Amino acid sequence: MRRLLFQGVPGAADTDPRKADFLFSAPYSLRPEDPKLREECGVTAIHGHPDAARQAYLALYALQHRGQESAGIATADGQHLSNIKGMGLVSEIFTDDVLQKLPGSMAIGHTRYSTTGDSALLNAQPIRVDSTKGLIAIAHNGNLVNLGNLRSRLERDGAYFQTTSDSEIIVQLIAHSKAGSLVDAIADSLSHVEGAFSIVMMTRDRIFAARDPRGFRPLSMGRIKNPVGPDTIVFASETCAFDLLRAEYERDVLPGELVMVTEDGVTSRQYASGVPQSSCIFEQVYFARPDSRIFGRWVQESRDQMGRQLARESNVPADVVVPVPDSGVTAALGYAEEAGIPFRLGLIRNHYVGRTFIEPEQRVRDFGVRLKLNPVRNLLEGKRVVLIDDSIIRGTTSRKIVRMVRGAGAKEVHLRISCPPTISPCFYGVDTPSKRDLIAANNSVEEVRRFIEADSLAYLSLDGLLASCQTEPATGYCTACYTGKYPTQWVDVDEILPAAVQV
Ligand code: SF4
Repeated sequence: MRRLLFQGVPGAADTDPRKADFLFSAPYSLRPEDPKLREECGVTAIHGHPDAARQAYLALYALQHRGQESAGIATADGQHLSNIKGMGLVSEIFTDDVLQKLPGSMAIGHTRYSTTGDSALLNAQPIRVDSTKGLIAIAHNGNLVNLGNLRSRLERDGAYFQTTSDSEIIVQLIAHSKAGSLVDAIADSLSHVEGAFSIVMMTRDRIFAARDPRGFRPLSMGRIKNPVGPDTIVFASETCAFDLLRAEYERDVLPGELVMVTEDGVTSRQYASGVPQSSCIFEQVYFARPDSRIFGRWVQESRDQMGRQLARESNVPADVVVPVPDSGVTAALGYAEEAGIPFRLGLIRNHYVGRTFIEPEQRVRDFGVRLKLNPVRNLLEGKRVVLIDDSIIRGTTSRKIVRMVRGAGAKEVHLRISCPPTISPCFYGVDTPSKRDLIAANNSVEEVRRFIEADSLAYLSLDGLLASCQTEPATGYCTACYTGKYPTQWVDVDEILPAAVQV
């Protein structure tokens, strides 16, 4: 049976959080042994469409790669503010009959991967709060970093939190703001939170979209042209969502900008300025889809350049270049072209590995990499192989892949990584292990090479990565997971202590 949380849905009773045990424990944990770093969220907002819920659904469908644990859509029709969310994939939760329960011409949507044990439905988004400023629904991508202080201050001021989610802190700040108008209260609240946030918000008659002053996470604005009435304005974490909606990309929401969309049109204000931009460079390396344009640059172009630069920096005599699918494919194409070595799909990914296998017992987990990847023996046998991947986190999966390629008959296996070594955890919305679990934080490149059993190992240099992602005018990037230099003051010191200190 599908378990959904209903709030304010016409004709349906609200789900009572106190009675619904299932809200507090996920029916399945999606934390697999999968070693890849995970994005936490994708967000979207729609204004001025007769079937806003379905548009939000399509956008979330395109953003599914940014989070597969829960999804939610809230809609507004001028009177109601309805919210439905559930655990699972967007297409599993929002069947036709569920979408029909969400009336209105405005919608916000969210898809989430949780980093914590409380991956419950209650913390799924959008979060709908009945505040002193009226009903507000919010969906948030990123991570706030001065939470402890803010939460306890708000609680002292009488705030009653319904969830443990970061996003509710923003709503409570809005509710407790002394600013006169709602838009002033939002601007005031956003200027008090530190960290990474790309946010969409909705009241009964307005949509808001904002990015944090450093612009960590992407958020773009697009438009669906309407020849017989006002255009539909859309927002999405990545522009690939616009393609499915047949929306035209208009611009990015700027770092520190708050955009408001009403029946009268689009207005904007800069609620914060003068802070250097630090957009997440790992979006370019891994998270975002290659068919998206983020931070002013096509992801495909950035990854192609990363591969080319990697070939220039650390080419090795070889017979074939093989990507670790899917995210290594574009960089491998760039590498192969630059190095003049044939590109071959020597590893095939099984796209149909679903939760049945992502969520197994230990016995099955050890099997994980084999379920997802399979070598193409006739392309690898007797060959000197350059394997291209986008990261080494703990090292265990890279070792399994190297063994797999060698087991398929490769004569030599040279691993090339399209970014620098990951040496420090992320506090801005990416689920990274702590420093002690990051293999490159505690070992030299040669030690990592020995551990993963490759014939050679090289990473892209930081300068090479930055040059591959550059735009005109220049984008300021966060590179903290490669340098340990964090753009904000607020980080969890325990998490970044070297391994030796933690034992
Ligand atoms: S620490 Fe790394 S993953 Fe996190 S925001 Fe910065 S670049 Fe992105």
